[in-house]
Amino acid sequence: METPVPKLGFYFPQDSVAAAWLNIETYEWAKHRFEKLQRICNTFLAQYPDEKIYQCILSMHSQTFAYGISGCPYCRKSFPYSQEIQNRMFAPFPNKQLTCPNCSRTMPDEKLSDEGQGFMHDGMAYYPVGMWNFHTAGWLLGGVRDHEGMVTKLTYMYMLTGEQKYACTATAILDAFAAIYPGTLGPRDFTPFDSKAEMGRLHLLTSIVYRIKVFLAQNYDWLYHFEDMETPSPALVLMGEPGTIRDNIERMLHDYMLTEPGGPVYNLADGNLTELHNHEADGVRAMLAVGLVTDKKEYCDWGIRATDAFLSNAVGRDGMYFEGSYGYSMFTITVFLDMALLSMRAASGEPQSAPHPFANERFFRFAVQNPMEMLCQGHLPCYGDWGADRICGQKPDIKALTDTYRAALHFYHFSPEINIRKEASNWLDRLYPLICGQLGDKGMDLLLQHPSRTQSHSFSLPTGVTIAGQAGIGILRDANETTALMRIGANHTHAHDDVLGLNYYAYGKEISADLGYGIYGSNSHFGWAAKSIAHNAVVVNEDNNMKKGQLYKSFAGGEFTFLYRSPTVTAYEGQAPALYGLDAYQRMIALVPLPDRSSYLIDFFYIRGARTCDYSFRAFHEKSALTLEGVRKTEKVKDSWTLAGVEGEARFYFNQPGKSFGERLTTGETFSPLLKGEKAQYWTPVPNNGYGFIYDICEYKPQLACVKARWQSTEGYELIWHGLLDADDRVITGQCPNLEGTEHHPLLVIRSHRHVKQYAALVHTTKKQNSLRVTHLQRLPVRGGETIAFSAEVGDGQIDFWAYSPTEQTMLIRTRFGEWRVEGRCGFVRTDQTGKILTHACIHATSMTFQGIKMPGKKSIWFPIKAIDHKKRAIRLDPHLIPDDADFIRIAPSTDAPAALYAVKEAYSRKDSATVMLRDSFSLSKGIVASCEKGMLRTQYPLPLGAAFQGKLIRGERGGRGLVEEVSDLKSIRIRVLAPFSQGEAFDITDIEEGYWAQWL
Ligand SMILES: [Zn+2]
Ligand SMILES: [Zn+2]
Repeated sequence: METPVPKLGFYFPQDSVAAAWLNIETYEWAKHRFEKLQRICNTFLAQYPDEKIYQCILSMHSQTFAYGISGCPYCRKSFPYSQEIQNRMFAPFPNKQLTCPNCSRTMPDEKLSDEGQGFMHDGMAYYPVGMWNFHTAGWLLGGVRDHEGMVTKLTYMYMLTGEQKYACTATAILDAFAAIYPGTLGPRDFTPFDSKAEMGRLHLLTSIVYRIKVFLAQNYDWLYHFEDMETPSPALVLMGEPGTIRDNIERMLHDYMLTEPGGPVYNLADGNLTELHNHEADGVRAMLAVGLVTDKKEYCDWGIRATDAFLSNAVGRDGMYFEGSYGYSMFTITVFLDMALLSMRAASGEPQSAPHPFANERFFRFAVQNPMEMLCQGHLPCYGDWGADRICGQKPDIKALTDTYRAALHFYHFSPEINIRKEASNWLDRLYPLICGQLGDKGMDLLLQHPSRTQSHSFSLPTGVTIAGQAGIGILRDANETTALMRIGANHTHAHDDVLGLNYYAYGKEISADLGYGIYGSNSHFGWAAKSIAHNAVVVNEDNNMKKGQLYKSFAGGEFTFLYRSPTVTAYEGQAPALYGLDAYQRMIALVPLPDRSSYLIDFFYIRGARTCDYSFRAFHEKSALTLEGVRKTEKVKDSWTLAGVEGEARFYFNQPGKSFGERLTTGETFSPLLKGEKAQYWTPVPNNGYGFIYDICEYKPQLACVKARWQSTEGYELIWHGLLDADDRVITGQCPNLEGTEHHPLLVIRSHRHVKQYAALVHTTKKQNSLRVTHLQRLPVRGGETIAFSAEVGDGQIDFWAYSPTEQTMLIRTRFGEWRVEGRCGFVRTDQTGKILTHACIHATSMTFQGIKMPGKKSIWFPIKAIDHKKRAIRLDPHLIPDDADFIRIAPSTDAPAALYAVKEAYSRKDSATVMLRDSFSLSKGIVASCEKGMLRTQYPLPLGAAFQGKLIRGERGGRGLVEEVSDLKSIRIRVLAPFSQGEAFDITDIEEGYWAQWL
């Protein structure tokens, strides 16, 4: 037995073998993992002699690969995604067949034969042999689930034991795939049948090629000195081509590099960066891995710089990734960790060319702190493009915890900053007991040393409020852990059109039932699930400005205007008038815990300047029935089968029973049948507002001032929406589909044609055994313009009073216990049946008076910023009493300008000044001046967050100063130059300057 030596050890250095053996001796999970690895590898060696491996892999040459998203050609059901079920579906080599777990038919068969190219059947393309190839190649080489293939497992065994047999078989797998790799086109599911469009390599779709390439480069690094490398490649010999195994493998590593056919456009050549999305990030990490193992120095140099750009500009000052879905953030963390590790290795021994990635606090917040702070009842937030959240329960998401542990482990090992290392170590302590059973799925778990636990830090779910100031995500949690998430931030790549939409969690369920997404570009994704009307939001003017193929409205972001926290009420307001170019478009959400552990939610949605407003509300992923109270059904209008036909202006072809999109949505997230003019992918209907997916429309007129909509779910939950309606509101119900049309849910829409519209609702979700019920929502007369007030009986003899105004004023509310006066915008009082005040909240009010009792509130004072310390991230204000809950501060150039929200780390007031240390980085993004002429600054680092930079400051390191007028494309900024910039000058974009104003949120 020899001791294997890697070429470089760029991913796992030589000493990681000793670390692995220490882990195996110390930890039960590591011992198990090793034994399992050994078992899997030995079984594989016994069953697959090299000859059979070559036969199996070369049999895929010039055949297709496919996910199989069109489902089963016999029963039309989609195939299960579960790996376990899939493992049982496929026959072993050489029999390239699969059996549908639903209808038990085996294919291909005599009726539907497949020579390796797939076939068309009833207008749909099917690839059973391609699916077999996909599954087998994924097992051998690694694949879409980010899982390690046999080749990587065998390489680990070789590293750990030094036994040649493992290296030999691993090399054979690499050699065989390398021979067929160039010229393959990637999975065939996303192009028309027979298309030759390049969508990746082998079974790997576009960026997944790069994900796997990191493994392959790592394997090659450790197999580099294996004696057979210089012998002629058996795979190439079989294909009649010349070349050694080494030539063959290196050719595969260099193939499909720098750009990504079939994916979004970018080109990394010459260190160029384009959009900094997750595909490009995957491309960079592969470029670094291949650059390191094949000594391509320019790849390393470009990769080091790219890593700096990604960490500075794809992640905001609040540590939030830009792409508009938290699932994509979690995935991108894993890419950035690799990228940072490889960049660090590439930079070692080089003169300081870029900052150390693991010294970056913003990166630490992104990868370690934020995932734990963003949890909603233990779930990862589900806004934007990501799988629907159907989890039931409040256990913290174990995958998120495990990934966070791994991220912390990276910082613990690699950060040069003692504070970061220390906090990382605390997180390891906290998370280890929860996740140790999960460790071992990745080689990293085994090959990185795990510190022994020294102190006892215990893990708890986040409580209170989480706000990401630049991303514009706000999460409210009340004393019962009922949670509301609202987004006011800019729309980017994977966002849904859900600004001011509500994700609402109770009893460990995402009650608001966001549809999520499954397949990019499907009819469900483009036409329906991403649309505003599919969310609990308000759609203005039927979204009639949405263009063909448009996913969401372009939006640079809104503001969180106030926040209130007490044990009785938690509330905040978001404003986003620019979303529709209105005078006002704002929502206030409040959560109120009740003694039976249920909570109710208050929803004030105010819109000024619209022709039509559609307030939409959905509940529950499971089957549910919707019933209405306080309404009268109106005569069915002709042509109103779908929501698109309600106004009866246009006769849409889909506006008939059986023809709506909602009824025809099916397996593969497309329509069956496809009607004339419709396409299965990247297609949107006209109008592109999702309204044609909502069918079986019924319309009602409100009969009572308070209308109740009651959802009863098959899992024993009930949600009652109590709405205060105007007499001319139109109450509409309809049915809408999930992504594959397997389920249909009732949806409520309240349509208003008022120029100024105030929606007001109280939402209460209960379980059967809950005792409390909210009854009698009663609108109260108010003096003051555009105000709304009501009382609600909330069980146990309590009466809750609410008042809200979109503007600051004095509200005089007439109640059964006399006049209630609110100075400001929002107030809450709870009394008993006799009118005795039990509790109150000046939510956004300087004071309230009720029954002669004066209740003081908070004044929102603006303080001028006297000085800034960029290094310490501190701002200095006049001395004042720092509020108890000084967690967030608003900062604006003037008191009437839109304000940016910053998280606060620490604040104190001394005799002559108050100091506020910000938790967020001062830099929104950074860049390097490529040129600056005639007010146009071109930068080398793209600015994916740039849509929101209008009016922000540019501070060059050599004294250049400017104001952003517009980020006209990702690398061009139209600026007003205040002091000239020079070429190559590094700069930061910030939104804080002396003379600006600050206000506690
Ligand atoms: Zn079937
Ligand atoms: Zn959504």
